[in-house]
Amino acid sequence: MPQSTVPMDFSSATAALKRHQQSIAEDRYLSNPHARVHRVFTGSEHSYQHWQRDWPRDQCVTVAQVCMGHSPLVAAYLHRIAHWDSAICPHCHSADETVEHLVFQCPAHDHARRDTWPVDTFTTDPRRLWSYLERIGVVTPPLPDRE
Ligand SMILES: [Zn+2]
Repeated sequence: MPQSTVPMDFSSATAALKRHQQSIAEDRYLSNPHARVHRVFTGSEHSYQHWQRDWPRDQCVTVAQVCMGHSPLVAAYLHRIAHWDSAICPHCHSADETVEHLVFQCPAHDHARRDTWPVDTFTTDPRRLWSYLERIGVVTPPLPDRE
């Protein structure tokens, strides 16, 4: 907290202290992307439990990106951010490869999709989503965090 020789009244001192504590909290929050991903998944609007605590950070980030529809795993996203020539799905060449296409529609992944989510059992369980991504070969099994 910046020291000041100018006397403060009680309310401006309280306000300054509050700002200081807030900036510490924000620093801590921003410097830990893992915590940010956890917040995404543990927010009250999600039914996710604390499944992701056993997961390495890269795995959490990858699944979070897929769930939010902004994943570097798909061509449409890469195309949009100009790192890729084409948004067309490299697996089936029949549509833009969005997250939705990759997970729900791509005919090239029908088999893996059926294995992962047998008929009428689609769930948003991130573990299933991850195993699907592994089956179709867009991710590799994670290495444990070395922290
Ligand atoms: Zn496709």
